[in-house]
Formats: sequence, structure tokens, C-alpha cells
Amino acid sequence: MTGQILQTLESRFMTPGPEDDGSGFRHWRFAVDGQGIAWARLDKAGSSANTLDGEVLEEFSTILERLEADRPKGLVIRSAKPGGFCVGADIAQFREMDDPARVREEIDRGNAALDRLEKADFPTIAIIHGPCLGGGLELALACDYRIAIDGASFGFPEVMLGLHPGLGGSVRLTRLIDPTEAMTMMLTGKTAHTAKARKLGIVDAVTKERHVAAAVQAAVGGEVEKRSQDFRDAALNTLAGREIAARQMRAKTAKKAPPEHYPAPHRLIEIWRRHGGDRDEMREAEADSFAQLLTGETARNLIRVFFLRENLKGQAPDSSDVRRVHVVGAGTMGGDIAGLCAIKGLSVTLGDVDNRIIADAVKRCAAMAKAKHMKPAEVRAALDRLIPDPNGDGVAHADLVIEAGPEKAEIKEKIYGELEPRMKADAVLATNTSSLPLDRLAKSLDRPERFVGIHFFNPVAKMDLVEVVSHDGADGTALEQARGFLGRIGKLPAPVRTAPGFLVNRCLTPYLMEAIIMVDEGVKPETIDRAAERFGMPMGPIELADQVGLDIALSVADVLRERLDRPIPETPDWLRRKVDGGDLGRKSGRGFYEWKDGKADKDDDAPDPGEGMTDRLVMPMLDACATCLREGVVSDEDVLDGAMIFATGFAPFRGGPMHYARERGFGEVADALASLRDNHGDRFAPDSYWTERGD
Ligand code: NAD
Repeated sequence: MTGQILQTLESRFMTPGPEDDGSGFRHWRFAVDGQGIAWARLDKAGSSANTLDGEVLEEFSTILERLEADRPKGLVIRSAKPGGFCVGADIAQFREMDDPARVREEIDRGNAALDRLEKADFPTIAIIHGPCLGGGLELALACDYRIAIDGASFGFPEVMLGLHPGLGGSVRLTRLIDPTEAMTMMLTGKTAHTAKARKLGIVDAVTKERHVAAAVQAAVGGEVEKRSQDFRDAALNTLAGREIAARQMRAKTAKKAPPEHYPAPHRLIEIWRRHGGDRDEMREAEADSFAQLLTGETARNLIRVFFLRENLKGQAPDSSDVRRVHVVGAGTMGGDIAGLCAIKGLSVTLGDVDNRIIADAVKRCAAMAKAKHMKPAEVRAALDRLIPDPNGDGVAHADLVIEAGPEKAEIKEKIYGELEPRMKADAVLATNTSSLPLDRLAKSLDRPERFVGIHFFNPVAKMDLVEVVSHDGADGTALEQARGFLGRIGKLPAPVRTAPGFLVNRCLTPYLMEAIIMVDEGVKPETIDRAAERFGMPMGPIELADQVGLDIALSVADVLRERLDRPIPETPDWLRRKVDGGDLGRKSGRGFYEWKDGKADKDDDAPDPGEGMTDRLVMPMLDACATCLREGVVSDEDVLDGAMIFATGFAPFRGGPMHYARERGFGEVADALASLRDNHGDRFAPDSYWTERGD
């Protein structure tokens, strides 16, 4: 209601606040306007987005100190950056904090600043545009009013880093809105967009940029209704209410984040259950727990994962000159690659020998766009950019041509023979092959230097990682263009060299094959999957093989077996017969498991995995990682760890396979492999990397 009133108010002020008064703050622009309202605008020095750190909060305390003496009519807090309000704490600063007592001191200082804001005896108003996350939301919650500019989003993503709010966020949000909604936001890390945030009561009003000054006047004048919890919210916050809700939250959270691997959400539930009735106690418990979590192993590793993602993002140059893309082969992969490119704003032509397959790809693009919550007009625009092109007319204009034809060298070479003469001389030709050696494919080309691998994973829309595959004859600029293109469509490029299975499939296959051998030995698939899930994999190897498709998993294993010196276990005959008989896994409804409604039907009573089963699964994967590093398939351990986490879901809280190996000790890993070799055969023989590179 108030939001509507604000939207209809005509503002006389078209600028978002007065000019800086030259107070000399590094991170804040401060001024008092003609109406006696103070404006503190956050403008974090040296950063494109606002983040909070000790210095930002210290300056903010100084501002408050001054205002306590001057008593303005009100205080407006907003961001001077066009991108948004504040994305939360500066995560780089977290990396250096390893002492809980020091973290606690920092938290206490931050809390003192926010308490001071909350207690100010003049109205305080946060004007929020763009993302308002984590510490940024905690700052806004300490204000009397939160006024959102349409498009603002709110959330506590701390849980993704193995943390929960630390600056009173859990205390304030559970007292502002329905406490179970507040807890859900913090437990899932999900973001609430403006309308949802308004409905939940996180924001008091929604306005437009040009009405900001009027909105501020209305808030200062007491015309904006302040949100308070109703009877139902209060009832949910009683001890009895919290007990019941906490039980449900624990069970639901444990399914996705078991407490032994991800303690943060479980601690948060416990803090609220125990202390939700006492503000000071809850604040104390939140701060204590945050300090423990931040210096604990899970958060340290998840913070590492955050930077592994940044590292991969950084592999793409800032801009890309790829505007037009032509995709050949509109099947499972090519169709979705083309659809994604169109959704991301590129002009795409899509060819195939079969027109029905192109039409089906266009339908999938519409579904993908809808799944991404695009508006109908945006979906239409994306579809307009995706042009069916059975004759390949788009080839001549494309900056990048992606081949996603069948996995047969002769067919791919024939396709290249038709494409290459029609392509622009400086265009890049990329193959999505998952197993064919690029140096062999390059031999058939006139311009092998413009040829690279861009290896997407299935499903294209979901999998962030894409391998950018080089070969000896590839030109550096072609590889850079490929990485830039991936950055442009929001993927994470992992540079790898051509080698059997490249990086990800090569490291994943020994793990999948070991699981298959265990089934052959009579172990139940559920038991094997449980061993991997207990290690922290999002799903076990048997379920994963069913998901990937047993035909695909086995053909990758065949290629590796043929091309690698290392023994890859033979596929049992019964499994080949199964695949020949059409049991391909999830896509056919039956593989190792029966699949119903996209879910594997599992026997919950399968026996628990025995001692050593996890090592037997994980060690072959670690060893393949070591081999890839030794052979230079991938340049370093960080790119490898990022690739394995973002392509296979390797237990993120362990920080990646090589990080896990380093934590465990390379010598220990080599010993574990040697003992597996003694029991199960030469496929476990440890790579020399462990002893050569061990500390
Ligand atoms: P697919 O069989 O679904 O699609 C291949 C398409 O190519 C078909 O639509 C077919 O009609 C078309 N085609 C055949 N000959 C052609 C020609 N001469 N000109 C144009 N189009 C032609 O296969 P897919 O699963 O999409 O795989 C495509 C490529 O992607 C393969 O190299 C595969 O190894 C690779 N890949 C597949 C996956 C996966 O999980 N499916 C994952 C990563 C990479």
C-alpha cells in the first residue's frame, strides 16, 4: 500500500542525494541536504561493487558519531555504485583470518557500529537498488526503514561459504518477518527479489529511482508504515514453536547438507531454537558460532572454492568479439549450446541433416528460457536470435562455428570439409568432441591453427564448466577467443590440452569403473553410492553413470582403455549386454536403477559400505588427477580442483581433489594407493607425481 503511494508521489528531487561534502572518507560519500537529512553513500574504494570490511565499518562509526552530535532530521544510507547496494563482506579478507579470537573482535566492532545505527534517535532509511546481500543486508536491517528500488534483491548467501550471518542478521531478520521464512532464506542462501522481499516484509516500500527523494521525505515524516511481526510470527518464535520448526528444518537441511560436512546451517538452527527468545543471547551465540565456523575447515575450503570459481572466470578475457555463432549438429549437445547462446544474446544459426532435430532444439530453447524465468518478450527475443539453418548460410558470417556432430572422426572430418571453405578466415572452428584427439581432427583442416575444442558437459544449461581444449597447432588467439566466448555466455572455461578424455572424463572414469567392478563383485549399487555420498559427493558413482547414460560412460571408458597405458578395468559382459539391450540409465528409464519421475528408485535397506570402500572409489580419481598434472593436461592444481568441482560436483567442502590430497598428505595418498594395488591390482599403482611433488 505504502509502496503504491510512494510510486505515485511526484518528486521535486531528481538526483539521488546531495554532493559529497568533502569530509574525506575513503569509502563513504557524506553530505547533509537542504532539508537537514544526512546522506551516507557507500562507495568502496578500489572496487566495482560495495563490500564490507573493518575499514568501511570504522568510517561508518565515525559518521554516526558525528550525527549523534548534530542530530539530523534523518539518515539515508545507500550505495553510490550503479551496480547495487552491497554484496556483503569482502571475502578476500576472510581468507586471512585463522584465529577465532581475532574474528570475534572484528565481529564485535561491526556489531557495535550496527547497534549504534539501530539505536540512533533519528529515522534511518536504507535505499536499496540491485543486490543487497549478506553483510549489506545486515546493515540495511539495522535501519528503521528499507525502501527498495524495483529490481533490488535480498539474501543471505553465507551458507554457500560454510557460514551464517555474523552481524546480527539472524537476530534481526527472525524478529522482523515470519521467522520460518527468515530461517529458510538463511538456510538456503536463496535470494528474494523485490516483490518477494516486499511480501515477506523485508522492505517497507518499493519505489523508482526518480521518486527516491520523495520516499525519503515520506519516511522521515513518519508516513511509511513500519513493518512489525504479527501474532502468528510471534507465536512461531516461542520456544514451543521453535522446537517444532527446528526439527523440520534439521531434517530438511540434512538431506542437502549433512551436519558432519556442512555444520553452518545446523548451528544456525540450533542458535535460533535455543536463543530465539532472547535477543542478546542470540546475538552472542551468532557471533561466537560465526568466529568458529570462519576458522573451521568447511568454511576455509568453501571460501577456497569461491576463489577457484573466480580463477576460472579469470581465464576468460574481459570482452569477447564473438557476435555470431553457427552450430552444426542440433542434437542433445549442439541444440542446447545454440539455445544457450541465443538466450545469452548472441545471434545463432543452427544446422543439422534432419530438420525435425533443429525444430526440437528450438522448442528446448524456449523451455530453457522459461526455466531461467525470462519474461515472454525476452523468450521471444531469444527465439528470434536462434535461426534454423539447414543449408549452413550462417557459416560465412559466423565468428565462431561449433561442431557437435556424431562422435565419429570420419563424420566430423566430412563436416569440416564442407564448413572450412565457407568460414571467414579469422573465424574459430570448435569441436564439442568428448573423446577424439584434436591433433588427429586438425590434420584434415587447411587452418588447423584456428581449430580448438570447446567441450561442454551435459546438460549444457546446468553445467558451469567447459573445457577449452588446445593442441600443438592451435593459435593462442583462437584459444583466447574460445575462452572469451565462454565468459560471454556465463560459463567457466578450464584450459586443458588434448589427451584421451581431456581432464574431467579422464579423472572421472576410473572412479566410475571402480564402482562398476564393485557391482560385478556383488556389492549393491546403493551401498557403493552411499560410500561416495558419505565422502561428500552430491550423488554416488552408480547413480551418476545412470545419469550420464551408460552407453556414453562405457564408450568413454573404451576410448581411455584403448589410448592409455594405465589399465582401465574391462567392462563386465553383463553390463555390455544390458546397454545393448537398451538399458541406458535415466534416459531409458532403466540402468543400474529403475528411474521414476527423474529419480532413481533405491533400496534404503542396502547394507552400509565397509571400511575402505570410499578410498577404493576416490583414490583412482585422485591418481588420474595427479597423472594429468604430471603430463601437463592441465596447468595447475587450482584449475584442476575448480574443474573437478564445477564439472563433477566433487565434494566442494573438501576444496577439490588435489587440495584434499594435500591435506591428507601426498605420501599418505601414495601409501593408500600402494596398499590398494597390493589388494586389487596394478590399476592402483601410484603416479610418480605424489613422490616427485610431495612436500
Ligand atoms: P547427438 O546424436 O544427439 O547429435 C548429433 C547430431 O548431429 C544429430 O542431430 C545428427 O542428426 C547430426 N548430424 C549427423 N551428421 C551430420 C552432418 N553431416 N551435418 C550436420 N549434422 C549432422 O549427439 P550429442 O550427444 O549431441 O553429441 C554431439 C557431440 O558432443 C559428440 O561429439 C559428443 O561426443 C559430444 N558430447 C556429448 C555429450 C553428451 O553427454 N551427449 C557430452 C559432451 C560432449
